[in-house]
Amino acid sequence: MAVGILALQGAFAEHAAVLDKLGVPHFEIRQKRDLDQPMNGLIIPGGESTVMNKLLRELDLYDTLRERIQSGLPVFGTCAGLILLAKQIDGGIPCFSVMDIRVKRNAYGRQLGSFRTKGQVAGIDGEVPLTFIRAPRIVEVHGDAKALAEVDGRIVAARQGNQLGVTFHPELDDDACLHELFLQM
Ligand code: GLN
Repeated sequence: MAVGILALQGAFAEHAAVLDKLGVPHFEIRQKRDLDQPMNGLIIPGGESTVMNKLLRELDLYDTLRERIQSGLPVFGTCAGLILLAKQIDGGIPCFSVMDIRVKRNAYGRQLGSFRTKGQVAGIDGEVPLTFIRAPRIVEVHGDAKALAEVDGRIVAARQGNQLGVTFHPELDDDACLHELFLQM
């Protein structure tokens, strides 16, 4: 098994460190030929969604990755990565447009742009650390997408079949439970 981590920009190295801790082989996706190797799962990290959207197209990674996600490749999008999966972005242009969620970018304003808390996530025992950095908000889940967690009435995690998306940064906390949930997929 090997997990591809989109490594164009953002917090990809932190995801690699979590997979190392879990003993899961992984590789970075920086250019098209990186997609030639077998991939059982894909992580799209946090960072800046507009930049990643642009680079995905410029580097000709977009069509192949979208097709694979649509064919069932398990994908884990964190923060900006979740934004890239969403079918609707308030005031923005969707990227992969594969997950039945509507998101709002930078939804917590300047003051509360970054904060940490703990919460429950469906399918995980105990409290999960939640680190938010200029986080989006999942405004709505519809179709086959289901909310997995809420903080203060705002949806912060969702799943739709092979797609798992969170508005926070599980790769920055010691608890690997969300990566483990993804690896089960
Ligand atoms: N604000 C970023 C965006 O809209 C996401 C922030 C993050 O990934 N930490 O792309």
